[in-house]
Amino acid sequence: MQSSTDLERLTRARTIRNQTIREFHDRLAADGIHRLYLIWENGEFSLSHPQILEPVRAFFELSHDFQDHEGVFIGREDGIESLFFAFVHDTRRGLAQGGLRFRSYETMADVLTDGLRLSQGMTRKNALAGLHWGGGKGIATLPPGYERPDLYDDRAARDLLFGAYGRFVASLGGVYYTAEDIGTNTPDMDAILRENRFTTCVSPSRGGSGNPSPHTALGVFIAMKAAWKFLHGTDDLRRVRVSVQGAGNVGRPLIDLLDEAGAEIWTCDPNPAAIESLQTDRPRVHIVDSSEIFDLDVDVFAPCAIGAQVNVETIPRLRADLICGAANNQLREPADAERLLERGITYVPDYLCNRMGITNCADEWAGHLDQDVALAAHRVFPDTIRVLRHARNLRITTAEAADQLADIAAADLHPVLGHRGRRLIDQIISSKWHRDTDATVIEPVIPIYDPHAEDGAMHRAERAGGAFRGEDPLIAAQPVSTAWRPHLGTFVSALLMDVDARACSMAGSQPARAIGVNHGGLSLQLAVEQNLPGSRHEIDPQDLIDECEDRHEIHSAVIRDQLAASGIGFDPRDWLDPMTARGRQAVADLYTALRESDKISEDSRPSARCPSCETVLVASDTIPSGDDEQESARCRRCRSIVEIDTSPQLFVDFSDEASSLADRIEAGEITYGDRWNEVVTSFLRDIEPWCITRQYLWGNEVPRRAGDVFSSWFSMIAMTLEQAGWPEPPGVIDRVYVDPEFLTRWIVPAQLASLATSDRPLVREVRVHGKLHIVSKKLVEKDDASTSQPDEERFLFRRTTRPMKRSLGNVVEPQSLVERFGADSLRLGLLLSLGAGGSESFTYDESRARTSRAVIRKLISSFTWLTRRNESAGDTADVVREVGVHACESSGSLAAGDFRRSAELLVQAVDAINRYEKDLRVKIAAGEKPGDVTATTKRLAKLLYDGFHPIAPFVTAAIVRRSRAQNER
Ligand code: NAD
Repeated sequence: MQSSTDLERLTRARTIRNQTIREFHDRLAADGIHRLYLIWENGEFSLSHPQILEPVRAFFELSHDFQDHEGVFIGREDGIESLFFAFVHDTRRGLAQGGLRFRSYETMADVLTDGLRLSQGMTRKNALAGLHWGGGKGIATLPPGYERPDLYDDRAARDLLFGAYGRFVASLGGVYYTAEDIGTNTPDMDAILRENRFTTCVSPSRGGSGNPSPHTALGVFIAMKAAWKFLHGTDDLRRVRVSVQGAGNVGRPLIDLLDEAGAEIWTCDPNPAAIESLQTDRPRVHIVDSSEIFDLDVDVFAPCAIGAQVNVETIPRLRADLICGAANNQLREPADAERLLERGITYVPDYLCNRMGITNCADEWAGHLDQDVALAAHRVFPDTIRVLRHARNLRITTAEAADQLADIAAADLHPVLGHRGRRLIDQIISSKWHRDTDATVIEPVIPIYDPHAEDGAMHRAERAGGAFRGEDPLIAAQPVSTAWRPHLGTFVSALLMDVDARACSMAGSQPARAIGVNHGGLSLQLAVEQNLPGSRHEIDPQDLIDECEDRHEIHSAVIRDQLAASGIGFDPRDWLDPMTARGRQAVADLYTALRESDKISEDSRPSARCPSCETVLVASDTIPSGDDEQESARCRRCRSIVEIDTSPQLFVDFSDEASSLADRIEAGEITYGDRWNEVVTSFLRDIEPWCITRQYLWGNEVPRRAGDVFSSWFSMIAMTLEQAGWPEPPGVIDRVYVDPEFLTRWIVPAQLASLATSDRPLVREVRVHGKLHIVSKKLVEKDDASTSQPDEERFLFRRTTRPMKRSLGNVVEPQSLVERFGADSLRLGLLLSLGAGGSESFTYDESRARTSRAVIRKLISSFTWLTRRNESAGDTADVVREVGVHACESSGSLAAGDFRRSAELLVQAVDAINRYEKDLRVKIAAGEKPGDVTATTKRLAKLLYDGFHPIAPFVTAAIVRRSRAQNER
């Protein structure tokens, strides 16, 4: 259904399709505007000049090329007839980097589409190359009257234009690093460099890296060898027939390398000088006409000239079974990748093999090392194998495989700088960059708040006091997986547990806290395997296990750090890790106990097996095949069609315990909350024996079954039992926080195992919370649309929410939010977003995080001002009563588990304190008596701590300390 909003959006987007660069430029000039931005943050746009940018926003909303780009910045300078753009796609891995394109564009739609595509391409290229850079792209439009950038050849004019572009880059403060690209050259880079320090690809005389082309050629050569090995089992290119289209800067050194490797080469180039030099230096090389290059009887085709050479017309002509070359954007359209797959031609994605251009200059700021670049080129070999293997396993095109792997890598935060690009963008907004002010705007100083410092002190104090290891009650959170770095969604349970535990301590009991770690099981092993140069069978199994161990250790450390930075208190000594000696013992003990109570049997009943992952699958590992004709399932991880296998497996039968647990739920002895009691009981009434053996390598070994491990859920439940005191009859865990997915994968099996071995149900109350979702854009195709139409005519824009998942490339790491908003704002924002009691999902909302930051800042600034005052005569103010009422209600909500309500009350309390501060300022200015400010401040601090410490632990603790210090003065 098309609404009036849809029509309005379409009308606006059309203006962008028709608006020329000149018109846009003149409009800015007429209004005296020099800088504009359009920023997108987890589902929301902010525009510097809505009246001008609304059409651009509509265009982005309806464009397939807009893929959650973090920001687009536009600039110009008076007297220069060029528009400047910086496209910042993704800065999670690092600041945005990508070359500056200088060319002529007809319309705004042309330039925006090009910039969106190229900057996303750079994110992928940088991420897959393992560079700690995000993706960006610069564009300077060619002044009117020039058709080609080389015709704009006056050095002085170029210096002027690129100097201005350099100032534009400088004003962005480092969020975008520029480099050479089509239409620009090294002297242009030098002109840009004179104006900023965010430029790479400068000349060696200025400390730059110099000509990247020979390195690019080496990267392509290495990728070709890797692909040849993947296809034919050897990387020896002797007598392999290769056609190279274009013998320019990259093509020529590639021909040299191939010739020296003994390949037979055909090439073409319209440039006679290029051909002449080849004829002199490389007489073995066959020269053909450019029109013949697609029809040659060769093994490999290497496009090294211009883009879009692999397309619907040329694919049927190709006789090679491998394409591997340097040209950018070799496929004319995505469907070409499918066409190649259908014809059995293996395509090495361009950005995978031509990455050495950017690799050569990316880290120039840290000094240029030839050795580094040579080493980086050799990384192309395993990466090529990885992409080709991933494509084969998943039965997808190599282009899709490279995109998938790159998107996952792009989501990893920079190890040192975190999500700094986002913080720079925040600063661009708050400093009002678009009003041409380069003045440094310092956010309200937060003198009493430093999450890192506070965090360390608080955790040390709590640990010394044994706060995390109390006796009663025991509160637990679902295990966090170490297959990947953590994301916000995996922290929700732990955060809720922490709020609960802090609320219990405030009420006088000392709760023990338990957070488990899920050793990642098959997901972790597959993630490691994807990084192996060969297949799993080509390396020693022990090496694979060691790699898994390393990844598990590294991610455990990252998770622990980020939990602490988010204010989630737990004692690392209580980290429930099934891969430690304690964990292994617990798993083995549980297995023995279940065997002794006849719960485990060996059987050859049919079980699902994934042929690609080579493992037995449990129900949650499979998804419907999507093929209505067949009732088959697919492996959730690699999408292969599952086979039914009858090899002997171990099964655990919990049917007696399941019916006992269902009875207890129905009798109200154990609760999962109204919404979930019924779901769980019907799951329990329908239970079948579960397979616990899986035939992969990484995990807890099954005794007397060499090379076989337990399912990761089995290891997780053993750890949870152990935490509760098992193999002694386990104590009862008072409350457990869990999302719907882990409900049946973790806590229900743990309860059943506990019933089976000690007749106790393990957990009294299971609090199910929603799974975290994130807003994303969805394009819905109109019924009467055709593929020849532009996106805005073809699609309708819809907002949707999707689960936060690594594989969807939409994860937000807690670290980046702590850095941008502070731990308290992160907690407050997340709690304010929570769905109502046990709902299946809730949505992370960036605007709530931002509002929360404003609330916390207001609180800090009010207290900073209040604690500096020393009026101590008269009455305390009404605000004490108002905040007291909120704090009291909040304590009640915390005890009842309604954390969202407490969060809302904190916002109201801060509002009241802020009003008090404002009134006080007015009174003091008017010379009136302000009352006893010192006593009021002290009481407010205590109320805030008592009512809201579990929600915002750092700021409340700091405020109390501040007000004590004020008293002592
Ligand atoms: P170049 O301009 O030096 O070389 C291209 C050559 O192709 C020229 O000699 C030109 O005459 C020839 N050519 C043009 N049209 C042709 C056609 N139809 N048939 C045959 N030959 C033709 O450029 P380059 O630096 O060698 O780059 C080649 C490709 O690789 C480009 O697509 C470029 O974007 C990409 N690339 C280059 C680098 C690098 O480090 N130079 C890095 C990454 C990607």
